[in-house]
Order: sequence, then C-alpha cells, then structure tokens
Amino acid sequence: MQVVTTVAEMKQVMRAATAAGKKIGFVPTMGFLHEGHISLVQKSVAENDVTAASIFVNPMQFGPKEDLAAYPRDFDRDCTMLKEAGVDYLFYPAPEEMYPAGFSSQVQVSGVTEGLCGASRPGHFTGVATVVTKLFNIVRPDRAYFGQKDYQQLQVINRFVKDLDMDVEVVGMPIIREDDGLAKSSRNVYLSGEERQSALCLSRSFEVVAKALQEGMYDAETVRGAVKAFISHHPHTKIDYIAFVHPEFLTPLETLDQPFVMALAVYVGRARLIDNHLFEVNS
Ligand code: AMP
Repeated sequence: MQVVTTVAEMKQVMRAATAAGKKIGFVPTMGFLHEGHISLVQKSVAENDVTAASIFVNPMQFGPKEDLAAYPRDFDRDCTMLKEAGVDYLFYPAPEEMYPAGFSSQVQVSGVTEGLCGASRPGHFTGVATVVTKLFNIVRPDRAYFGQKDYQQLQVINRFVKDLDMDVEVVGMPIIREDDGLAKSSRNVYLSGEERQSALCLSRSFEVVAKALQEGMYDAETVRGAVKAFISHHPHTKIDYIAFVHPEFLTPLETLDQPFVMALAVYVGRARLIDNHLFEVNS
C-alpha cells in the first residue's frame, strides 16, 4: 500500500491507474477504523482493479463546539488494517493540503440536508459535500463506497452526485454492528462501561417501533412518544432527535403506513451516537 500525502501525487497515481484501464474504487474515511470501514474496503477490492482509501478528519464538517480536536486517531493501526484489507493507495493529506490559504468554496445541498443531523449540526453537510467533492475530483473513482450508518450523509452524496452530473457510482453498504446490536462507530471509544450498556437503547428502539407497528400503531407522533420513553429510561442519555422519514427525500412522515427510515441521534455521556433502520411497511 502506498501512502500519499499531496493532492498532486494522488492525482498523478490515480490518473495513471485510469490510463492503464483500471477501475478505481474509493473509500473515504476519518480514520480510527473498525469493521464497518473495512466492509466498505472489502467490497471495493472485490468490485474494482484498484482501491484507494482516504483518512482525513475534515475540519469543515465539525461545528465549533464539536469533537474535532478530540476525534480519536491511530494512523499506524489504520494503515495495518487497510493494507491487510487490500487497499492500494491511502490518501492522507494534512488539513493545509486540502484547505490552503485562500480556500473559499462550498458545495451546498438543500432539501435532504435540512432535517435530522442537518438541523442539529448547522454547516455539517456543507463540510461533508465540499470535502467529498474535492476527494472525488482528486481520485476520480469509478465507484465510491459509503455506509448506511450515516444514512443522511449517503442521501446527501447521492443528491449532489446526481445534481452535479458527477461520473461516480455511489454504493451504499449495510450497517456493521457489534454482537449486541450497537452500530460500530469510531466514537464508541468515548463510552464508559455503563454508558456502553445504555448505548444499546439506540438499536433496541427499533424493536419498540416494530412492536408498535405490529400492534397497529401507525401514528408517528405516538410511536415517537413510545421510543422517547424507552430511551429516556436509560441512564446517561439525552435525545437529540427521533425521526421517521421518507427513505430518499428524508421528509418527515406523519403516518407510518409506507416504507420509512427511523433515524435517531442520542447523546450517551459525551458521545453523540446515531443509528437508523429501514422499515419495509406494506401500504
Ligand atoms: P467515518 O470515518 O465515520 O467518516 O466513516 C467513513 C465511512 O464508513 C462512511 O461511509 C460511514 O458511513 C462508514 N461507516 C462508519 N461506521 C459504519 C458501520 N458501522 N457500518 C458500515 N459503515 C460504516
């Protein structure tokens, strides 16, 4: 695996691969990797001739009071994992390389960015869309792999790729979970032992919804109330949002009589955790 730290060199190696007729798969990450990230790499390695990954903790997508400085990092461990999984090129730029003096452009997506995490993290998705656009321009991948764990992010990326006619196939991949159901996340290291137990309330809340639907409860507000009561019962939790939305447009639904995504963000201690589940309701 070759580690590349400059935009110029990354462009050069990626263009050479494309010129040699190779299909390029790309997996962007913020590092501190786990099996969720590796599942994306494995899919890319299986589907493409060359796999590039990136590790970049993107300052532009963090709010002033968020965990940019504290975000967990372990470059050597990440390198070992990526190499073992079959990554050919790892792009690892410094923030100044991505945002040199004078940088002043933004990719702003409306609609799908407005609710859920977009409402509680103003500017977050502009940061995501801008950095992913830059990475796509640098790597020019044929396919790019993203986890459904960040469901809204995946829809934002689908949106601007379509709107801006970008030549990349966006592949969404299933959420990888711990054995007890907790979605794997780099931020899970923030959890103490007791908080780790409480964190199970996110994935278990999907069972609360499934049960409500089975009992014929289709009113979103009523189901939200049941989920809220369930989560609040767990120590160290603070609900950011519990939402029932259209799977593509992410618009809130009042009645759960059609396929929907339940998405939630909950603080457990200082960790802000997100999770989601697609419910295939027959109308
Ligand atoms: P991050 O490093 O958190 O920015 O994540 C990089 C990529 O890995 C994103 O596309 C995430 O959606 C994906 N990802 C993170 N956690 C998981 C998980 N538990 N299962 C599947 N994909 C994940």
